[in-house]
Amino acid sequence: MTTLRLLLGDQLNASHSWFRERRDDVVYVLMEVRSETDYVRHHAQKVLAIFAAMREFAAALQSAGHRLHYLCIGDPLNQQSFIANLHWLAAQYGATAFERQEADEWRLEQALIAAQADLGLPASVVSSEHFLADRQALAQRFADKVPRMEFFYREMRKRYRLLLDADGQPHGGQWNYDAENRDKWPGSPAATTWLQPQHDLSVLWDEIVAAGIATLGEPHAASLNWPLSRREARVWLAHFITNALPHFGQFQDAMSRQSRTLFHSGLSFALNTKMLQPMEVIDAAINAYEAGKATLAATEGFVRQILGWREYVRGIYWARMPGYAKLNALAATRPLPAWYWTGDTRMACLQQAISQSLETAYAHHIQRLMVTGNFALLAGCDPDDVDAWYLGIYIDAFEWVELPNTRGMSQFADGGVLASKPYCGSASYMQRQGDYCKGCAYQPKRRHGEGACPLNSLYWHFHVRHADVLGRNPRLAMPYKAWSKLDPAEQAATLAQAEVYLAQLDTL
Ligand code: FAD
Repeated sequence: MTTLRLLLGDQLNASHSWFRERRDDVVYVLMEVRSETDYVRHHAQKVLAIFAAMREFAAALQSAGHRLHYLCIGDPLNQQSFIANLHWLAAQYGATAFERQEADEWRLEQALIAAQADLGLPASVVSSEHFLADRQALAQRFADKVPRMEFFYREMRKRYRLLLDADGQPHGGQWNYDAENRDKWPGSPAATTWLQPQHDLSVLWDEIVAAGIATLGEPHAASLNWPLSRREARVWLAHFITNALPHFGQFQDAMSRQSRTLFHSGLSFALNTKMLQPMEVIDAAINAYEAGKATLAATEGFVRQILGWREYVRGIYWARMPGYAKLNALAATRPLPAWYWTGDTRMACLQQAISQSLETAYAHHIQRLMVTGNFALLAGCDPDDVDAWYLGIYIDAFEWVELPNTRGMSQFADGGVLASKPYCGSASYMQRQGDYCKGCAYQPKRRHGEGACPLNSLYWHFHVRHADVLGRNPRLAMPYKAWSKLDPAEQAATLAQAEVYLAQLDTL
């Protein structure tokens, strides 16, 4: 009697109850397959880091005495899809049962449901024992109406009794310290440098290239800088807590040419592959606060991201898929400009954010939302294109978290399921939050005419062309009022400028 237990590349959770006992009748199976590398074009570092972390995890399981079969991408026996591989592995081991953890992505969950039916073995699906909210319960709760994140987050704080006083009220008397968390970064305190683990993955990269996998971005295979094991992820977390958490909240929305990462944690890859558990990350932050090493505003701002946003977007995903992936409330149809794949644009903010993403497979939240996302929204780019770009380029991109952030938060293509208004800004936002405009070929103060920053005219064009839907939104009363106060000639010149730019997006 042998049970095959499938582990996916984002199921590297060493604390899963499966691993509490060693069983001779269980064979763990991990596989690097083309069906996963090819559903979208991924960043080279993403493919490298996931495969390398899978290999580390498999080696750790084996040295702990578990039976395991690992299929490398170049293995001649690898048939490159879960279903095909499971068939021959089941035959080889004489499997009498199949078990797996629930997949986080809709696409994969459907494929595995089909695979297990096809295998014809008794099958069971267990929780990945990672998230803090139950997916089925959230799916039911969010099916008709999705609450705003703030209310969901407060419930989670109460449920887990985090940062609460004895009477159940929030520490410090406030649930939310966002108002203290929007500063521009003046260049000090010095931005935190992430750890540099420097993995030499040249051999693995050769295997990936030999397999013919198409990727984007710089591989940096000889010195990959992401944490690839639980041990490294724990060290990375400790480094963040000591060095960056104290300033996390205050400069959370800042952008700078001087630092790609500012005080962000870089923990999303370790979290999304489940090398780290969300509650241990939250506990580490709260312990630092209780030891007087981080302020309440910084700690609350960080906890909110993991306990709030991360669980919330997953709830929306599972409540609204598969339809959510097709939503296009603003009927946006333009292709993404070609420079999203090269960084070759004269707009300094986009050039910086895109080049950095290609170079490192990382951009922090405000770069994703208010630089690349903002431009795609204002220019009316097709959310399918935008999704594919985000799903491919970032090291942490898995659809359950990428899709609601991109289609919902950033592109407003869900018509307001996730956010009460589109997140968008003109050049004045860029100037307020960062230093990208310094030395840009475009002029941030100009709406139209020679060298006018495209964000300005596109910002107004966006509001005008969607006035029928967005004009009724009370949260957008300010921009619509500001627009109505503009001289009609100024309005006409601004809209004409936007039309010129929209006709030549690839050359901006
Ligand atoms: P920090 O700023 O240090 O935040 C700490 C942690 O909080 C993150 O590691 C992450 O786990 C969590 N978190 C913060 N914001 C969010 C959020 N909005 N949704 C979910 N979790 C959050 N995050 C992904 O993990 N994968 C994605 O594919 C992804 N795509 C995005 C696409 C767009 C258009 C936008 C606007 C955001 C996206 N995010 C995504 C959310 C967020 O930008 C990243 O989680 C964050 O930038 C990761 O960097 P960090 O670990 O340094 O985060």
